Amino acid sequence: MCIYWSAMNTNTCDCPNCDCSVEAGAIQRDGKSFCSQACANGHPDGKGCGHHGCDCG
Ligand SMILES: [Zn+2]
Ligand SMILES: [Zn+2]
Ligand SMILES: [Zn+2]
Repeated sequence: MCIYWSAMNTNTCDCPNCDCSVEAGAIQRDGKSFCSQACANGHPDGKGCGHHGCDCG
């Protein structure tokens, strides 16, 4: 049972490779929230979100 799913409303970036937290005012797209424009765009140019220690992109 995944009771944590409903309780887990912490905002982390919806980029599959990114665990950065998403704060109010983050980029929203298709009901998902992303920590950066690069993540929201799916890293079209292979650049990461630019957050320290994050390897997404
Ligand atoms: Zn990131
Ligand atoms: Zn991200
Ligand atoms: Zn990303």
